[in-house]
Amino acid sequence: MLLTAPLPMIENEWRTDIMILSTYIHIPFCEKLCHYCDFTKFFYEERMADEYLQALAKEMSFYLKDKKHPMRTIFVGGGTPTALNLKQLEYLLKQIDDHIDVSSVLEYSFEANPGDLNEDKIKLLKSYGVNRISMGVQVFDDQLLEDLGRLHRVADVDQNINHLLKNGMNNISIDLMYGLPNQTLDSFNHSIEQALSYDLPHYSSYSLQIEPKTVFYQRHQKGKLHKPPEEVEAKMFELLIDKMSKSGKLQYEISNFAEVGYESQHNLTYWNNQYYYGFGAGASGYLPGKRIINLRPFPAYVKEATRSGQPILHIDEIGKKEQIEEEMFLGLRKRAGVNKLEFERKYHRTINELYGKQIEELIERDWLEETTEQIKMTEHGQLFGNEVFQRFLLEDGDFDE
Ligand code: SF4
Repeated sequence: MLLTAPLPMIENEWRTDIMILSTYIHIPFCEKLCHYCDFTKFFYEERMADEYLQALAKEMSFYLKDKKHPMRTIFVGGGTPTALNLKQLEYLLKQIDDHIDVSSVLEYSFEANPGDLNEDKIKLLKSYGVNRISMGVQVFDDQLLEDLGRLHRVADVDQNINHLLKNGMNNISIDLMYGLPNQTLDSFNHSIEQALSYDLPHYSSYSLQIEPKTVFYQRHQKGKLHKPPEEVEAKMFELLIDKMSKSGKLQYEISNFAEVGYESQHNLTYWNNQYYYGFGAGASGYLPGKRIINLRPFPAYVKEATRSGQPILHIDEIGKKEQIEEEMFLGLRKRAGVNKLEFERKYHRTINELYGKQIEELIERDWLEETTEQIKMTEHGQLFGNEVFQRFLLEDGDFDE
């Protein structure tokens, strides 16, 4: 989509006129904390959420001041944005509407927990232009949901999807997890089939990662948590790709599947290594030459956002070398891979000049393939994603700034 509206600008010490057309907003409240989760999140409490939303409004006002900014995508994630009550949700939507020209937004997503979306919330979201819901379903198995520490149950998924469809909200995505303790290939197969029975336009599926400071991590350390063996997990991934493709949901990124035209435009911003704002506790934004990481603890975020509008923990300078590495790591996640001409246009060097040897070696292993226009991972190579990405780290001196 071409936007003809004036360019948004950041009016502070790193002022620039480069277009930033995506915004991520983090709402860190959950009604229950899942055993595997290391996101920034807090128990939902009405007063805390009120305070947070006011601080968030200050942060947005700092970066998006004076006028409504054109934007291509908005993603409100968490935490659980739909854990907010109706009044808070309306306040948040109104703040977004005050700073962003929602009529210019192509994709406006909200993350939701099954069980949270009643008719009033759905109608409210729709009335402010939200046009996509991403639902954290995880598995269609009540026992596994209990084991994960999730609040919802399978019946909630059905009820919420029906409410959404009844209200004309068809652009729905479901998240599934695999590689879970006590999850078999058969039980994952059942979850995929249940998910596909709704014939939704988009699905994501991630394997469980055991992250520090989680309940699962502690259990794992004590030898009390066992993930399925690696070969079973690899089979789960292959099953996922097979089932999705047979149902017309094309894999467009390692973990994401969609009908043509329903690929997540917001997430493509990340994989295309494009700029975006990140607002909220623990959020990160990518602005020209800088990655800005926000404060994570609730009091620190609220205090600093309220005081200065800049609740920053630290800023990473992103030079050309890092930009190129990220272009490769992120771009190779997409099935389409990295476009060679686009790379040359951005960095004034060809991919082959910088990575010729690595590409040749990875093609020999059947982990990469090269066409006249693209460099991309093979289906086999996807199983070794991290090893592939590591090959694209540059040595100092490989690229002169
Ligand atoms: S609902 Fe989501 S954000 Fe909240 S604890 Fe569970 S996984 Fe984490």
